[in-house]
Amino acid sequence: MKKFAFMLLLLLFVVVLPGQGHAAGGSNKIFLDGKELTAGLDVPVENVNNSIMVPLRMIAENLGYQVNWDQKSKTVTIEQQGKTIKLIVDQTAASVDDKTVVLTTAPLLRSDTTLVPIRFIGEQFGLKVNWDNTTKVVNLITPEIPDSTSNTGESSGDGGTSVAVPPVDTTANLTMVNGISFSENRLTIAMDGNSQPVVSKVTGPDRIVIDLPNATFSDVFGTGQVLSPDLNGSLAVTDYPDVSGVRYSLYSTNPYTVRFVIDLNYAKNYSVNVSGDVSKLVVVDLNAASTNDPATLPGNNGRKLVVLDAGHGAKDSGAVGVTGKYEKNFNLAVVLKAAALLKQENKVDVVLTRSDDTFLELKERAGMANNLKADLFISVHANSGSSSAASGSETYYQRAASKALANVMHKYLVQATGLSDRGVRYGNFHVIRETTMPAVLLEVGYLSNKGDEALLFSEDLQNKVAAGMVAGIKEYLKL
Ligand SMILES: [Zn+2]
Repeated sequence: MKKFAFMLLLLLFVVVLPGQGHAAGGSNKIFLDGKELTAGLDVPVENVNNSIMVPLRMIAENLGYQVNWDQKSKTVTIEQQGKTIKLIVDQTAASVDDKTVVLTTAPLLRSDTTLVPIRFIGEQFGLKVNWDNTTKVVNLITPEIPDSTSNTGESSGDGGTSVAVPPVDTTANLTMVNGISFSENRLTIAMDGNSQPVVSKVTGPDRIVIDLPNATFSDVFGTGQVLSPDLNGSLAVTDYPDVSGVRYSLYSTNPYTVRFVIDLNYAKNYSVNVSGDVSKLVVVDLNAASTNDPATLPGNNGRKLVVLDAGHGAKDSGAVGVTGKYEKNFNLAVVLKAAALLKQENKVDVVLTRSDDTFLELKERAGMANNLKADLFISVHANSGSSSAASGSETYYQRAASKALANVMHKYLVQATGLSDRGVRYGNFHVIRETTMPAVLLEVGYLSNKGDEALLFSEDLQNKVAAGMVAGIKEYLKL
């Protein structure tokens, strides 16, 4: 959606929400270089898990960035000085130019207004962002020396202006830490570079220390969580009984080391794995039964990353069954069951393109797997035919590199459904064409067939298909 359409949308907000030009009294305030910003505050600023969330319109009207909103995909695009950031409502995965970063708090909708994390966005474009918790004020500060330090690592050292430390030549080959998150009892660190994490257990009090040698925080870190001027901060962890919090800092600049500390409530085992090629995810998993030393893992990347894609979602129901059941719900149920099983495997990480009734464009699904450099991509669908007699299971591949995976997955799919075997087929579907890893699309059965529809919506069949998918994944990955 182009700017014109965005302006229309703004107009809509003005029409729909009269008299809400200012945040309600007592709510959080925003200052830019000492001047209070009031334009575009359709709804009050919110503090969500220590991320200050502001209306998108406030950014468009006050900061001079080019802001686009795509209603269909719920995607916010913000451009300035050749840099593009993309955020999607309810998703913590975002991108800065083409790099995937993890937000602490996903953009969210309030009364049709999109709230976005101001710290993350401001810092992307060189603003200093401070939060005064006592006065509940966000201070945005334009730096006196424009930070033109680009992602090439070049500095703005021309013309005799002083440049912020550290100097370019020392940081050029550093691993850049882009973001962290803590969920499902796992600390996930997103980074670009080859730093090999050194993880150790420390007692008195119990904690796990993760050092990333030869690393520093990139300018995309600090996505709403505190990153103080001396480069340290912490992440509140409230939902996990094992963990009281996570701290992080640029522990040393000689040699460069980023340190994370998981503060534990009692001693815990953990496993560590690093996945990805250039953009990497380091996962420190406290669900592990016993601790494995990352140094003992072959190549330090013994785990595989599988992306599971539940077809359709939200307004896109997919096929509608003979009794009116929606394909999107079947797809999601199977994917959630398969993910739950895969999470019990120690050598596999699983990422879902959607884990609820959300709409995603096809290119976002493929893009997510590509950005994560996943090892496998499996999309789950159910079919519909013009004849109500059509019944059975099919598995599709598009690229030759996916054929072997299709053969393995299909064997287990047919076993699981017990429906007629309609074969492994070529299909020119976007998600299996545009992905860069072996990728298949399963058509589990025909919702246009009464028998298939009833079967597909039975708990028992869904469990069998999920277990079959996991068996296929393990066989293909030789786990
Ligand atoms: Zn479908």
